[in-house]
Amino acid sequence: MTTPTVTEPVTTTPETPTYESLLAGVTDPDGREVLDPATGEVVGRVAFRSPEDLDAAVARARAAQPAWGARADAERTDLLLRAADAVEAAAEPLAELLSREQGKPLNGPNARFEVGACAAWLRATAATELPGETVLDDGETHAELRYRPVGVVGAIGPWNWPMMITVWQVAPALRMGNTVVVKPSEYTPLSVLALVEVLNSVLPADVLTAVPGGGDVGARLSGHAGVDKLVFTGSTATGQAIIRSSADTVKRLTLELGGNDAGIVLPDVDPRAIAEGLFWGAFINTGQTCAALKRLYVHTDVYDEVCAALADVARAMPMGRGLDEQNVLGPLQNRAQYEIVARLVDAARDAGAKILVGGDPDPDAPGYFYPATIVADVDDDNPLVAEEQFGPALPIVRYDDVDSAVAMANRLDVGLGASVWGSDREAARAVAARLEAGTVWINSHGGVHPMIPFGGVKKSGYGLEFGVEGLKAVAVPQVING
Ligand code: NDP
Repeated sequence: MTTPTVTEPVTTTPETPTYESLLAGVTDPDGREVLDPATGEVVGRVAFRSPEDLDAAVARARAAQPAWGARADAERTDLLLRAADAVEAAAEPLAELLSREQGKPLNGPNARFEVGACAAWLRATAATELPGETVLDDGETHAELRYRPVGVVGAIGPWNWPMMITVWQVAPALRMGNTVVVKPSEYTPLSVLALVEVLNSVLPADVLTAVPGGGDVGARLSGHAGVDKLVFTGSTATGQAIIRSSADTVKRLTLELGGNDAGIVLPDVDPRAIAEGLFWGAFINTGQTCAALKRLYVHTDVYDEVCAALADVARAMPMGRGLDEQNVLGPLQNRAQYEIVARLVDAARDAGAKILVGGDPDPDAPGYFYPATIVADVDDDNPLVAEEQFGPALPIVRYDDVDSAVAMANRLDVGLGASVWGSDREAARAVAARLEAGTVWINSHGGVHPMIPFGGVKKSGYGLEFGVEGLKAVAVPQVING
């Protein structure tokens, strides 16, 4: 993750939103309860909308699109920059709401970091250019390639990085002259509604709309005849449903479907020097990250030292309620995810794997806290390795030769990210080139940057986000020939 400056708490003025005013703007007293995953307390209430409400939002977005698309690019750019200013002015209350609803701590690479990334991505998207180009000019033919808005873009997001991923989906679409309808995850609707409120304090009406609801609203959006492009981040199963429902309208899709990222540690590493990087590669957002390190392959020469160093780092990381400033790890966001992690760690333990740290949650404690867990001596076909845990449990598999590590890394049907760790950077790059993944990092894992394209291969999805490629993804190319 690129590292935007972590926002320090700001002194609020009557003009800057407070936590209470932000929440009041998005909460509906008659709506469904949204619970704090750390305590079980009610954070707020959200009125779930119906598929018919979604139809109305799409109709408004269609009506607003021609005027938005006709604005000068400089005007849209300016509005994105002003939206970034608005996010920064509301940064602390946005981070607090995100922390309470999603569970992630304010501190560390978590809630304040995520809000900072929203502003950073808005600014970077405003600064990225996608000019038309002359593709042939030979005296007879003059052909120009240019990019037009797609029309209305639908954005369906997950609950792990709800604000940041919404900005990833929305900012390029707006820049290219599309209007956008967002369907947040039912687990984290307040965060997205509050973010959209803040963005809409500068955007014209109906250019950006959020419609909270369940899977029925998501399904309506993905099959909607009034939606020209859908950008989705979530599970492979839902992505497959979206592909099917897009067929009738030949809807354009960008699908970011998560993965099961492998990391390969080569024998020439200094285990203590890489331990913290490995830890955050795997445990950022308490492991609930699409491109997190989810299975680690370590050469037998350094296996014991890497395991011991990682376990030491894991033991030292404070986990707890997000609003307590000392914490850097939080709860799982929901019970279903907690149960997936618990089942997979139990499967590893039952198969004889060694739990070096963690693996023993307190069943009587409130909240969905699962301790940071490092699992050694685990086989490559164990479910903790083969299935996506999406939580704070890292399996470490021993290997003897690099070819077998590459084969194990490539054997699954997903390929979002991967990483190679080694002191000889060129040797690490050579191994990286053999891995079937959209991004392979060297000596780090999971860092994204608004100018560097990001996307998966295999069942991790298709299409690119960020940078110039991200702008192209929410535009339609047009050739003017003559
Ligand atoms: P889903 O894929 O089910 O949900 C993602 C989004 O899709 C949500 O907004 C959801 O709405 C919406 N949705 C659900 N059904 C449909 C549909 N038929 N058509 C269109 N949209 C739909 O992920 P989950 O939240 O259930 O998480 C399940 C697993 O997915 C996790 O265990 C994890 O492995 C993975 N995941 C991956 C993420 C990533 O970053 N790539 C992020 C989150 C999860 P609603 O919430 O209302 O159901």
